[in-house]
Amino acid sequence: MSKTIFEKSRPGRRGYRIPESDCPIRSIDLPHMRKTPLGLPEMGEQDIVRHYVELASKNYHVDKGIYPLGSCTMKYNPLVNEEVARLDGFTGLHPEQNASDAQGALELAYRLERALCDLTGMAAFTLQPAAGAHGELTGIMIARAYFAGRGEKRKVVLIPDSAHGTNPASVATCGFAPKTIASNERGLIDPELLERTVTDETAVLMLTLPNTLGLFESSIGEIIRIVHAKGALVYMDGANMNALLGIVRPGEIGVDIMHLNLHKTFSTPHGGGGPGSGPVGVAKHLVDYLPVPRVVEEGGVFKLVSRSEKSIGRVHPYLGNFNVFVKAYAYIRTLGGPGLREVAENAILNANYLSARLKKSYDLKYPGPCMHEFVLSARNLKKFGVRATDVVKRLLDYGLHAPTVYFPLIVEEALMIEPVETESKETLDHFADALEKIAEEAEKCPEKLHEAPVTTPVRRLDEAVAARCPDLCCPGDLE
Ligand SMILES: *Cc1c(COP(=O)(O)O)cnc(C)c1O
Repeated sequence: MSKTIFEKSRPGRRGYRIPESDCPIRSIDLPHMRKTPLGLPEMGEQDIVRHYVELASKNYHVDKGIYPLGSCTMKYNPLVNEEVARLDGFTGLHPEQNASDAQGALELAYRLERALCDLTGMAAFTLQPAAGAHGELTGIMIARAYFAGRGEKRKVVLIPDSAHGTNPASVATCGFAPKTIASNERGLIDPELLERTVTDETAVLMLTLPNTLGLFESSIGEIIRIVHAKGALVYMDGANMNALLGIVRPGEIGVDIMHLNLHKTFSTPHGGGGPGSGPVGVAKHLVDYLPVPRVVEEGGVFKLVSRSEKSIGRVHPYLGNFNVFVKAYAYIRTLGGPGLREVAENAILNANYLSARLKKSYDLKYPGPCMHEFVLSARNLKKFGVRATDVVKRLLDYGLHAPTVYFPLIVEEALMIEPVETESKETLDHFADALEKIAEEAEKCPEKLHEAPVTTPVRRLDEAVAARCPDLCCPGDLE
């Protein structure tokens, strides 16, 4: 284990010295003043640089290699986006600045919203939500306000078992009762079962499209008709819109509410907790319920409108995670409509290529073409005493990032793989070679998989303890 920065600290070492003050020194004595000095590490500049370079080199990231986490869309984040997001006009702006001094920023938010409307066919978007799950909550709050406005007491939100795991949580947080609909043997919603399940109590059908098996609901038209016939709304979790860009416009097929993840589909960096952005789009009849403030344009001037009678109010301070908007907008403008369609086509092509190779070594429960991702099962290796977790731990020894595992729950020993469009054929082959070799190892030398990983800075962690009770303490007085 390498030492922490606190263990490397030596009293009196400095990377930077603040010049002596040439003003008279006044002591401040406030009730909440610290009694002891802040226990910061003391180091020279070069040692600090080396410390962080050493840590960074232990990390795995999308600039280092393929990052095929299913449902996460870990694509390349073009550096031009970073350059644009660093422009002084954006970074030097204060969120309390008057609208007249922040026309460029407001115009960018306005144009991004218009671009998202063009891509999705929705009437309007709010850019406030800070993540996908936050967007889900916002969307369900809009549905709640809509039904409250109509005096309807609908309590149930139907969620297919192929939906993303955050959906039931967002629905429950908003006070609705989530109800699961089982998918059929093809991994899709069965319209007949849906018809029998939707009632006057149903508020929303919340479906992930493509679903978490990487499949497009082939009966989507009928599904939406059934839900609308009962006066309920259709919510589309569009976090994986990467597969549909330029191909499907959800607003045109009757989706009422949807969210996008700018930090997935639109190439803004993510992982490690943010920052993200999960804009929510609505059809015409729900525009009045969107959060305020909203950016509007009047005769070439951009304004913030903060009052709207039906609005659910604010869900984020100011406009949202503005810096993420800049990167997403740069991405959209760089690629343009045809380029974005190519993104989806190549994401689908890459996933189908990998799926076709890997179904020979692993089980594919739902065969046939997929969209942007596919879900393998490692259940065929159980007879050798090997599980999905052993397979992905071994992948780390091959220097590759693991796919999502044990999700979705409807696939036993699931390996959920989303290669994304930015990976070359050589990289896909390298990844497939490793997974094929691991399937052979499972049969010939399963102990290698049980011991893995052996080449990483830490071996197997207890994941539940690591997530729930992380050991973050460091030596020294940090009070
Ligand atoms: C990632 C994802 C979410 C959640 O998004 P966060 O930004 O992590 O909150 C929701 N739904 C689907 C389908 C996703 O892939």
